[in-house]
Parts: sequence; structure tokens; C-alpha cells
Amino acid sequence: MALIFCPECGNQVSEHALQCGNCSFPIASLKNIQSTNTTGASGLTNHQNKVVQPQKVNNTIVWFLAFAPLIGTFLQGFITGAIYGDDWYYYYDKFWLVTVVLNVILSSIDESKLNALGYDTDELGSNWLVPIYLYRRAKMLGHDQAYFWVWIVLFTLDFFSLL
Ligand SMILES: [Zn+2]
Repeated sequence: MALIFCPECGNQVSEHALQCGNCSFPIASLKNIQSTNTTGASGLTNHQNKVVQPQKVNNTIVWFLAFAPLIGTFLQGFITGAIYGDDWYYYYDKFWLVTVVLNVILSSIDESKLNALGYDTDELGSNWLVPIYLYRRAKMLGHDQAYFWVWIVLFTLDFFSLL
């Protein structure tokens, strides 16, 4: 149980107390004021940022991201082909990081664009967890889950072709 100082007399009171035991200052009302202030502050931030309507959010980057498992496969093939020539196939799997980095870069770009439009992207989670990012992004913007499922299908195909 946390103790706070009474703003009236400086007496230490439980934060859950209704009023101060020393001077009867209404501690409970203090908390109401604080929560009202918090709501007011975030409301102001939203107003200042002017969140852009979900329908107007540009989805170009997120669709590149949805196809990133496929694009990454081509990139890996291209890079290993450029380095190892005809033997590229033996080295292909070593460059899995190319696909990972591509995913993270694209989701980071998308996230910063959403941020610029006034969206709070903290709830979308880490850029390393692309499927979760895509799923929550669609949910937040009220989009259908199309880009999420495209990513999942392509990733699954890619994954099993590597086995
Ligand atoms: Zn007091």
C-alpha cells in the first residue's frame, strides 16, 4: 500500500484513503483530478496530432511487407547468384538474414508513416514480430486481414521449400 503526502497538511496518508486523518482533506478527490488531467492531456495530444482517417492511410508499404517473404526469396537468390554463380543453391540458406532484414525495414517504414499520421503504434508490438504487427495493424485501422494472410501463406510456402 503506497503512502502519499496530504497536499493540505503534509501528513502521510494511504493513497486509498478517502480523506486525510489529520486535516480531513479529501484524498479521494485528488485522484479524480489526476485522472481527469491525464485524460485531458492525451485528448489534447490527439487533437494536436490530427489522426488521419484509416481509409486514407497509404497501404503501399504494408503490401510490400505482405509480399516480403517472396521478395526476400528472390533477393536471397539474386545475392547468392551474384556471389557464387552456378553454386548459388548451396549457399542460399546462409542468407536468410536478408529476408529478415527486409521484413524489419519495411515494417519500420510503415510504422513511422503511421506515427506521422498521428497513430499510436506502440500497441502494434515489435517490428521483429511481423505477423503480429500486420494482424494488429489491420485491427487498429479496421482493415480486413488480407495483408496478414498473404504474409502468412507466403511465409509458410517459403518455410517448407527450405526444408
Ligand atoms: Zn491533511
